[in-house]
Amino acid sequence: MANRNRPAGGGDLPGKDTPSARHEVDPPARARTIDPAAEEMLQIADQLGISTAFQRVDEVKPCPIGGEGACCKVCFMGPCRFTGKDKEDKRGVCGATLSTVAARNYIRSVAGGASAHADHGRGIAMALLAVGRGQAPDYHVKDPQKLRRIAAEFGLELDGKDDQKLAEELALAALNDFGRQEGHQIMVSRAPAKRIEKWEKYGVVPRGFDREVVESMHRTHAGTDQDAEHIMDQAVRLALADGWGGSMIATDLSDILFGTPKPIASEANLGVLKDDQVNIIVHGHEPVLSELLVDATQDPEMLEYAASKGASGINLSGICCTSNEILMRRGIAPAGNFLHQELAILTGAVELMVADIQCVFQGVVEVARNFHTEIVTTSPKAKIEGATHIEFDEHRALAIAKQIVRRAIDNYPNRDRTKVHIPQEKSAVIAGFSHEYIRYMLGGTFRGSLTPSTTTSSTARSRGSPPSWAATTRG
Ligand code: SF4
Repeated sequence: MANRNRPAGGGDLPGKDTPSARHEVDPPARARTIDPAAEEMLQIADQLGISTAFQRVDEVKPCPIGGEGACCKVCFMGPCRFTGKDKEDKRGVCGATLSTVAARNYIRSVAGGASAHADHGRGIAMALLAVGRGQAPDYHVKDPQKLRRIAAEFGLELDGKDDQKLAEELALAALNDFGRQEGHQIMVSRAPAKRIEKWEKYGVVPRGFDREVVESMHRTHAGTDQDAEHIMDQAVRLALADGWGGSMIATDLSDILFGTPKPIASEANLGVLKDDQVNIIVHGHEPVLSELLVDATQDPEMLEYAASKGASGINLSGICCTSNEILMRRGIAPAGNFLHQELAILTGAVELMVADIQCVFQGVVEVARNFHTEIVTTSPKAKIEGATHIEFDEHRALAIAKQIVRRAIDNYPNRDRTKVHIPQEKSAVIAGFSHEYIRYMLGGTFRGSLTPSTTTSSTARSRGSPPSWAATTRG
């Protein structure tokens, strides 16, 4: 098990000529992952004494209170602990039961996660608003057909309006929906009538997103909602508010701005990193910067600058959801998932990792200290101690993207070749199955429906698992 306090970089790296760690991996590494590339990098982490989440998951023992029972910190008469065999019988200082405390803790987690999703949607709406107002010259409406379709759903008048005007109106309507005080969210109308009927029956039709979060926090304030089932009903309404008023808006507005995905071939895993190129990894969730980074890395001026530093090109890849955004629209290869973020840096071949929001381990900065890799945060909402902060602004997006790429290129000569170890592991992938594309494949514009698919299943002409691509469609 790795020791977090061991001096960084204290071990020798297996050279490129040594047999692949895939075949000689030690038992602990094999038990921690089924991915051969991750397995290979974990062995290197162990040899260098560099801590990753894979080690910390063993080192960090679950909090005995949270692991066994619950802790309430809602007010300062506590914290109150609910543990032991009699935890169900225990009461907080205020008299709260374990069920109430568990429900309150749960809905506060839902509020946090839902807020992250919805704030992402709000960020895309703000970008669309800047485009509509002519303040973001580096972006354009890439799917005007979808712009009109979604604008119509929001009840906007389409006639006589160009894309820019409509983009502004739709952005304002979407932003207004987040703060809607009366009635339900616009997107809820997409749900089947029977589903809405059920939501109405249980009183969980989502209202404006912000209202649901504020009400959830209010209800869980000390001395307010103290009926666990009643709190859980609100958790359902809040979760629906996220799905229908946060994530759905984020997806639709992203498609309008950056294009609705259609199938595109790429590759995935740490093997997409390149030994002789400037490697930049995007990490986080938002496409507004990563889209422009794709353009910046393909810019002839940047490629020429990279060549001047001895690199044969600029290789952009990704981790996590922002990676998905540029995979499904631009075919940019993911270097891995959430769990590969520290492992990618361990390859010693990453010049710069640019992170925006959500799912970014604070641990990446610590791992990067062992290499030349620079971690750059970009969101005004998220900084990490020890990382460089270059704040993103959609009004001058391309200039900022080029600034980041140039920084990565400048860092390329600092790469220590003796520390480079890129696993060869990568897989072919086809991404980009938007629901629009699936409908097109199942009948096209004139008879687009899921009928061909359901008919073949119900008549037993097609059996078993759905086609493999179903697993790669966007949720
Ligand atoms: S709300 Fe009640 S259970 Fe929670 S910390 Fe305060 S006194 Fe304790």
